[in-house]
Amino acid sequence: MEELKQLLKKLVEANGPSGHEETVRNIIKEELTNYVDEIKVDNLGNLICTKKGAKDTPKAMILAHTDEIGMLVRYIEKEGFIRFSYLGGFFDQMVLGQRVLIHTEKGDIKGVIGSVPPHLLPEEERKKPINRDKMFIDIGATSREQAEEWGVKIGNPITWLGQLEELGSNMVTGKAFDDRAGCAVMVQALKEVNAQCTVIGVASVMEEVGLRGAQTSSFTINPDLAIAIDVSATGDHPGVEERQIPVKIGKGPGITIADGRRESLGGGLISHPKVLKLLTETAQKNNIPYQLEIFEGGTTDATAAATSRGGVPSATISIPTRYIHSPIEVLSLEDLSNAVKLLKLSLENAHKYF
Ligand SMILES: [Zn+2]
Repeated sequence: MEELKQLLKKLVEANGPSGHEETVRNIIKEELTNYVDEIKVDNLGNLICTKKGAKDTPKAMILAHTDEIGMLVRYIEKEGFIRFSYLGGFFDQMVLGQRVLIHTEKGDIKGVIGSVPPHLLPEEERKKPINRDKMFIDIGATSREQAEEWGVKIGNPITWLGQLEELGSNMVTGKAFDDRAGCAVMVQALKEVNAQCTVIGVASVMEEVGLRGAQTSSFTINPDLAIAIDVSATGDHPGVEERQIPVKIGKGPGITIADGRRESLGGGLISHPKVLKLLTETAQKNNIPYQLEIFEGGTTDATAAATSRGGVPSATISIPTRYIHSPIEVLSLEDLSNAVKLLKLSLENAHKYF
């Protein structure tokens, strides 16, 4: 468990918003070099790690995305304050008052996200949520020229500033669990797996802005089955009802039956029955706890894999995570370790199903 925690820490504390994922990619490359037969990086930046299996056995693709939601410098005010664009799905209320890092060619610059304090807001404005247009990043510069001198320019990527912290006995909190938790599970499973089939781990780019890396890598690899590892929301804290999403932290990894838009499950994945059978039977036979789930409100790389070329049987293993898309995501290391077990053993069983 300690090894897995350290791996997660390393991955989470690396910074990589969509399209700027090299640091994360390099960590995974370094972790896996001695454990796989072939590693390559494709044109978009997907890291493709292959562990060859026996002849005439299926190709199983694993997908975990390297990007985290982030921002880009859009404009520098003449007083030195920075306006920003979102890269990925943000909730404005989680943004206000946070610490960030701006990544420049001259190094990382710390900043805080400010807005007008409540004291100076008219009564009715105080009751309303503050949106992005009213926020800015304060880096302590006194002019645009000074900010530029420090290296800030339009297009610099921005990430949350935050470290992995322990919470209670088995939980951790931090930024970018979406999807470095998935990356950690994939890396650890690839290290341990001894499968009949060929296993191809893809650390995919640009998931948060439309499953882009999964699209291109699925086409190139043309696998026989695909499993994405990603996080999903839980219904175990105030404000969410269990009937909305019965998944709880600490009760095992989720196996997604379907996901997509809230109103219709459109745009998401309907998991393939054969992959579902592989995952659930593997869990049952090995006494690995798991939770079946339907996740309304988002999807994963598996969706892109499923409709690649002639279609790829696909499913998702999810890590139950609270407060997703915030700098204080929370998950259980127990779930993470059970997800590694489930993935590893499923890969070792895959040739019996495909
Ligand atoms: Zn994700």
